Amino acid sequence: MIIDLHAHLGEDVVFDEEQTEEELITAYQENHVGGAIVQPYLPRIYMEDHRQIHDRIHRLCQESKEVKFWGMASINPHFRPEDYDEEAQRCIQELGFVGIKITPIGHAAHPSSKDCMHVWEVCRHLKVPLMIHTGAGIPFSDPISVQKALESFPDVPCVLAHAGSEMHNQQATYLAAKYDNVYLEPSWVGVIGVMNMVKRVGCSKIMFSSDNVYQIPVELAKYRSVIKNEDDLERVLYKNTAELYQLKM
Ligand SMILES: [Zn+2]
Repeated sequence: MIIDLHAHLGEDVVFDEEQTEEELITAYQENHVGGAIVQPYLPRIYMEDHRQIHDRIHRLCQESKEVKFWGMASINPHFRPEDYDEEAQRCIQELGFVGIKITPIGHAAHPSSKDCMHVWEVCRHLKVPLMIHTGAGIPFSDPISVQKALESFPDVPCVLAHAGSEMHNQQATYLAAKYDNVYLEPSWVGVIGVMNMVKRVGCSKIMFSSDNVYQIPVELAKYRSVIKNEDDLERVLYKNTAELYQLKM
């Protein structure tokens, strides 16, 4: 079994990217990946557009027979708190989504700012992990930007998406070694960075993810090259994600 923790659906107006249901399903089947947690590509900054992409992800989760999908909500933290709460609650409690995402570079939001602290509160209340994009988009996306919030929310599991990427993975590794609730999703990190994570943090806090369909075989090859122990590899390829997000398999 393999589960991808970080996949996107829809049209992204920040990064000018697009990915369809068919592209996801075909790529996962080709690479023998059984499931994925899917979040929106960044929509326009209207709540209606956020609702539409969340509904589209929900339909994919319900209708896909070939690959198992779970949803992750991504809502701009600068919406009015009451509007943010309503959509977050709808996603988690009605649509059955399993997590929430902040993208500092796309949402123009520092992960420890007042508006993002509200997102941490929502994750605590709804009992779901918070994924935060790190890497591209310094200084907001420097993993160390998350530290202030971590001090206030030791009970909210936090996944550092891209684990700081190639330039800032030292900071992400430092945080995951220091804080029990920090996990690493090292898509786009090179093999040396991943090796350092395995040594310092261990395989129980590292999760495979692709971020993009063309990246799936590349990311899989990376872990198979670095991790030789079969149990550790299983943890990274699906078990850690299934446990943290309490996925119904
Ligand atoms: Zn992404």
